Amino acid sequence: MKRKIACICETAFDIDVPESVDLDETPDALNEVMDGTFLSYTCPGCGKIHKPEFPVTIVWPSKSLILEVLPETERGAYYRRKKDGPGSSAVISFPEMAERLAVIRDGLEPVVIEALKYYMLSKAQQNYPDREISMWYQKKEGDLLEFHLHGIREGEVAVSRIPWALYEKNFQDYKKNPRSELFSSLRIRSYISVQNLMRPEELM
Ligand SMILES: [Zn+2]
Repeated sequence: MKRKIACICETAFDIDVPESVDLDETPDALNEVMDGTFLSYTCPGCGKIHKPEFPVTIVWPSKSLILEVLPETERGAYYRRKKDGPGSSAVISFPEMAERLAVIRDGLEPVVIEALKYYMLSKAQQNYPDREISMWYQKKEGDLLEFHLHGIREGEVAVSRIPWALYEKNFQDYKKNPRSELFSSLRIRSYISVQNLMRPEELM
């Protein structure tokens, strides 16, 4: 889809944003998502790199994934909307897209990762009540799952590692009781995110 970017240098330029990207056909796209260069555009006037968020669908047939990626600006509209596309799951914002693709890449269950984040974030917010803290899954390394915490200290990222056994315990809980209160409240239609619990004001 054709879009226009207006740069602060007063250059406006046209870009072509794909409506969907297939990660099996274009494996480089996964690397671009992970290093933050996915769908970034250079201004022909001044060379500034723009990373606008546009809606895009990520398909990953070998992982049975159809991921509808919405811009953060459409969060409220998503909550108000009635239904999602068949077979797809949704994320809101490019950082959530990158995180979800890392979760799927590593063969993990998204709702269990979001549940672990909920426990960790609840604890972090007790310790740092004035901070707006977010937490992002990075990768599995040996018997540890690595997460990054943003917002505890200005401009710093804290690394948190969760033992595999804790993931496994929660995964078993999920398999036994997928509709428990916590797992249900992490999900709004096909959108699974700790944000559904941490930002309840958006749901009004
Ligand atoms: Zn420019």
